[in-house]
Amino acid sequence: MVNEEAKAFRARLISINGNTVIMDVLNGELSNADQLVFCSSGETFRVIGLDTNAGSMSADLDSPVAVQVVAQVDAELGGSLSAKVAAKVGEIIARSDHRPEYVDQFEAEILWMSDQKMLPGRRYSLSCAGQTADASVTKLKYRVEQSNGKHIAATSISKDETFIGNLALSHSIAFDPMSSGLETSAFELKSSDSKTLARGQIRHGLRRASNVHWQAITVDKTARSRLKNQTPKIVWLTGLSASGKSTIANIIEKKLLEMGRHAYLLDGDNVRHGLNKDLGFTDADRVENIRRIAETSKLMLDAGLIVIASFISPFEAERRMARSLFEEGEFIEVHVDASLTVCEQRDPKGLYKKVRQGVIQNFTGFDSPYDKPENPEIKIESETVSAEEAATKIIDYLSAHE
Ligand code: ADP
Repeated sequence: MVNEEAKAFRARLISINGNTVIMDVLNGELSNADQLVFCSSGETFRVIGLDTNAGSMSADLDSPVAVQVVAQVDAELGGSLSAKVAAKVGEIIARSDHRPEYVDQFEAEILWMSDQKMLPGRRYSLSCAGQTADASVTKLKYRVEQSNGKHIAATSISKDETFIGNLALSHSIAFDPMSSGLETSAFELKSSDSKTLARGQIRHGLRRASNVHWQAITVDKTARSRLKNQTPKIVWLTGLSASGKSTIANIIEKKLLEMGRHAYLLDGDNVRHGLNKDLGFTDADRVENIRRIAETSKLMLDAGLIVIASFISPFEAERRMARSLFEEGEFIEVHVDASLTVCEQRDPKGLYKKVRQGVIQNFTGFDSPYDKPENPEIKIESETVSAEEAATKIIDYLSAHE
C-alpha cells in the first residue's frame, strides 16, 4: 500500500561536519532543494547537493544506506550547520513539511518474547530506529488472544503474548504510527543486559510534544518524579551511634547515582550544622530534630527525590510520626543493628570514649534510651553483614518496590 506516509522521508543522523550532513536513510527518497528538519530541535536546513557514493538515494528496507548529503544552512541561521545545531548522533531527520510525531508517551501493540514476565512500571530500554530511551509500561490495557483477537484483562504478560499498553519514556523520540509502515513505527524493548524482551509497533502518541501550544500540566509529585523517571521514597536508617548508618547510607547514595537516580542523603552532619543547629540532645530536642528532618524529607519526596535519612532516631513514637507524613509504601524503615559493645569497639568518632570520660551526656544506649524498631521494612545485622551487602539489600528492596 503506497499512501502519503509511505512516501515520507526518514533518516538517522550519522555526523555533521561543517555543512556536510551524513545520514542513514531509513525510508523514502531525498531530492536537491528539499528542506529537512532535525526532529528533536526543530532546526531546519536545505539540501543543496547530494553525494550518494554509498549507493542509492532511497532506502533499502533491510539495510539502510549511508547517503552523504551536502546541506546548506538556512539564510536566517548563518554560519555552518555544525556550529549552529546541537543535533545528536542517531536523531531522526525528516522533510520539514512531513514530520514524525515527537513525544514521550504512546500507545503500542507489543509482542512479549521473554521468559521473564512483563511487569507494568518496570524499566526497560527502548530502541526505535536507532533512538534509545528508558521506557516503562504505565498502563497494561489488555492482552490480545492470538487465536481470535479477543481482548482479555491482564495484570502481567508472559512469553509469546501480545498486549496493548501505554509506554512512558525518559525523553521524547521521533516516531510514526504503525499505520504508516515506516521504520520509525517499530521498536524493541531490551533488558539492562541487552537481551531483547519484546517487539512493538506504535499505535499513536499520547501527548503531542511537537504541538506548539503548551498543555496544562498539573505540577505535582507524580509529574516531578516522572520527569526523573523514578519512584520517590524515603529510606530511614535508624540505629545506635556507630551501628553503621552513615557508612551504609553513603554507599546507597553512590549506587543510586550510578543507576541514574536522583537521591539526597540527609544526615546529622548536614542537618545539625544548619537547619537544626539550635537543637541539642535532650529528649525534647531529639523529638524536634526528627520532626524537622521528617518534614524536610517530605518536601524532598514531593520534589521527586529518593531521600536517605540517617539518624539515630531513638524513639519509636517519632519514627511513627515520621512514617505518618508519607504515603503507604513510601517510608522504608531500616534498622541498622549492632550491639552496644560492638558499637563502642568501633567508635569511629571517639564518642563512646567521651561518654566513658563523662564528657557527653544524654547518649543513646547509656543515659538515653533506644527503642528497637518492632516492624522495620528491612533489618541489617551490621555485625555479620558488610556495609556493601547491606546497601545492596536496600537497593534491591527499592528496585522491587518501584
Ligand atoms: P553511624 O552513622 O550509625 O553512627 P558510622 O557509619 O558513622 O555509624 O560508623 C560505623 C563504623 O563501623 C564505621 O567506622 C564503619 O567502617 C564500621 N563498620 C564495620 N562494619 C560495618 C558494617 N557492617 N556496616 C557499617 N559499618 C561498619
